[in-house]
Amino acid sequence: MINIFSIRFRIAAWYFLSAAPILVLLAVGSWFAMRASMYQGIDEELFRRTLGVEQFFQTRGDNAIPELQRELTNGPELPLGGGLFQVFDAKGQLLFESPAITRHNATNPTLHSPGEKPIYRDSALNGPRVRLGARCTTINGKVLTIQVAEPLRSFDESLTDFAHVLYVSIPILLLAIAAAGFWLSGRAMAPVEQINREARAIGADNLTARLSVPKPRDELRTLSETLNAMLERIEISVNRLTQFTADASHELRSPLTLIQTAAEYTLRRERSREELEQAMRKILHETNRTAALIDRLLALARADSDKNRLSCRPIDLTALLKDIADNAAPLVRKKHIRFSAEFGSKPVQVSGDDSALRELFLILIDNAVKYTPTKGSIFLRLSADVKDAVIEVADTGVGIAEEDIPHIFDRFWRADKVRSREMGGTGLGLSIAKWIVNQSGGVITVASELGAGSNFSVRLPLLNEASLRSE
Ligand code: ADP
Repeated sequence: MINIFSIRFRIAAWYFLSAAPILVLLAVGSWFAMRASMYQGIDEELFRRTLGVEQFFQTRGDNAIPELQRELTNGPELPLGGGLFQVFDAKGQLLFESPAITRHNATNPTLHSPGEKPIYRDSALNGPRVRLGARCTTINGKVLTIQVAEPLRSFDESLTDFAHVLYVSIPILLLAIAAAGFWLSGRAMAPVEQINREARAIGADNLTARLSVPKPRDELRTLSETLNAMLERIEISVNRLTQFTADASHELRSPLTLIQTAAEYTLRRERSREELEQAMRKILHETNRTAALIDRLLALARADSDKNRLSCRPIDLTALLKDIADNAAPLVRKKHIRFSAEFGSKPVQVSGDDSALRELFLILIDNAVKYTPTKGSIFLRLSADVKDAVIEVADTGVGIAEEDIPHIFDRFWRADKVRSREMGGTGLGLSIAKWIVNQSGGVITVASELGAGSNFSVRLPLLNEASLRSE
């Protein structure tokens, strides 16, 4: 069943439609060319015949006409001039005509002078069509016009036959062209069919499968390669999602198990008020941790769905960081860590989302506190260069091994799971931090040495720079 909307059918139709006018023009042109060449052949023959008659009149002189009449009494036809000729004097008076030409009702020629070009024309007065050729010449001092004729019957028949051949052959040729177009486009489209089949077979359960790439370096090869690259990207994000779901379930499972164990253990027998309080505190601690984890998971889910684009507006970073430093001070003091903050004298303005930026710096300061032992130091520094505001959060904590640095922004990645969990970590803080920085048009980098400390540096475009970049 032919699908008339298929590219294959349309290509065949285009072949047909573009070939049709060309072939029709060619047919009409060749018909006219054939007609012209046949006329030329007839006219040349007519000219030769006038020469024959002229020669006869030249050699016979005044005896020419009586001799012709004598010959007529001997035989019914004259071979001269093809048997169809007339001779006129200078005034156009008929001097002689062969009997055969009378049957054709040849009209008199237009008078012209000797030396002028012969006049050829068609005549169809009351009878079969003939071609007439008239030539004016001087024979033995007399001006005579010799007119010869040739019936056009076989000429017309040949032309009609040729037209019939064209009527039949042009549609056949057009159909053949359309069929060839259909076949050729079928061949050209075969790899597309294959891509279709293979693509249809790829689903969530076999995302590792790829389309076969055609050998010729053509558009279909590019298409297969593009689709394969797209499959690669889909596979990576599906894997990431699966991994994220598995990690998230695992992370949620641990605090729930702890809550369940604490509750079951406490309920096993009668407990004193202190024991009950202790169990409740443990349960509350784990519940808070779970709530924090769920908050972060939600933040990441919103970040992934991209619906939660930050609503950026001008932010005075100096004021914002001073505020954060004030809030962080008690937390730091509790752990006996030295905390120093340094802000330039000039206000530094960036375009950003106030609560997201607060979240970002809290994550960095919170990490610094978590991974810095008692008596360590934490520095918060704000400076600005020509283009960017630079915020550094440095600590003299445990540091990060060189081989771990590329992973620290990955979701759920933690250098030391147990320690992170003990500190209330979720393994999601830095991935959220990185997302906030990226959404704010900045970059986050880290320099760290194991056992010596870490330095997280955030660069955010200054306000006029930010507006220039977004233009
Ligand atoms: P977590 O909730 O575990 O802190 P993050 O995503 O914030 O998760 O950090 C990922 C990991 O990076 C941490 O588990 C820790 O191993 C490492 N890390 C982050 N900040 C620091 C830091 N200031 N010093 C040392 N290690 C750090």
